[in-house]
Amino acid sequence: MTSINGFFFEGNVSARVPASIELTLDGYRLSANNHQLRSGRLDDFTVSDRIGNTARRLQWPDGALFETIDNDALDSVLRSHTKGVRGGIVHRLESNWGVAVGSIALVGIIVFAIFKWGIPAAAHNIASRLPVSAHELVSTGALKSLDQFIFSPTALDEDTQAEVKNSFASMVETLDDTEFNYRLHFRKMHGMPNAMALPSGEIIVTDAFVELADKKELEAVLLHELGHVEERHGMEQVINASAVSVIVSTALGNLGGVNELVAGVPVFLLQSSYSRKNESAADEFAFRQMASAGIDPIHFATVIRKLGASGPESEDDDTNSYLSSHPGTEQRAQRAIEASERFNATRSVGDIKP
Ligand SMILES: [Zn+2]
Repeated sequence: MTSINGFFFEGNVSARVPASIELTLDGYRLSANNHQLRSGRLDDFTVSDRIGNTARRLQWPDGALFETIDNDALDSVLRSHTKGVRGGIVHRLESNWGVAVGSIALVGIIVFAIFKWGIPAAAHNIASRLPVSAHELVSTGALKSLDQFIFSPTALDEDTQAEVKNSFASMVETLDDTEFNYRLHFRKMHGMPNAMALPSGEIIVTDAFVELADKKELEAVLLHELGHVEERHGMEQVINASAVSVIVSTALGNLGGVNELVAGVPVFLLQSSYSRKNESAADEFAFRQMASAGIDPIHFATVIRKLGASGPESEDDDTNSYLSSHPGTEQRAQRAIEASERFNATRSVGDIKP
């Protein structure tokens, strides 16, 4: 038998009285001032878990409470009565399986929310804070890999290249103080019309694209690509995917996966497409820049329709391309038309002014 000192609170009175509890193999006896207040079986009350040296509570269903800081004495009694007291705890958990299932569901929801919103939001934040040098670093080797796997040298004549370069330079000029060093590259890509941007600010246009688009359409697409760079979508995508892979491989105890991932960044850049949200953001960026440069956003609608009609695999293409974007081609064209209407409305207001 062990006697433990502490304080007793009746459920209905807030006053506490010094009390002691005697624990035996079968039960307990609680007394204060040599008066027995209550007695019964060990599983009549529950015991709070030990957290450092904070006071422990024995709690009765009627709200009565015995509090003690004699943790060591209580633990030694609990250990020797494991059967009685623990049996009670396990019994309660079993009867509360609904709580257990609920907890698992809650953990699932939290994990889902972290992957769905937490990581993308963090990736967006980190990407926008990283210096341009970091964007250049992740792009290292990407163009080389592309040249090795999907590109071949351009066959565009000097004059055409010079024209496109002019357009490109004037589109870059529409950006107010950019930190990026923009460069334009011409390549062939199995006859496919395409344009893409590396996070470093290297923009690649294919011969077929230059042949397909007129000057204004080409400028619309170049601005869309500049939008991806300015808003750091490439880096965001890299961080987002890295975070997910790092978390997953770490959870699986596979740290080697992290190294593979870092080495695979350039390849990754080429293989994955931007999120729907980023694709729309780059479109909106292009509409704004076009309007401020006096170019009707309608040219974006015409070029995206041309591009949509040109590629048989356009919607399912999994390269990091202009065509693979998730918002449907027609949906994007419609938004360009709306931007064009807004553009023309402000222009005609300007026109009728005396
Ligand atoms: Zn895009």
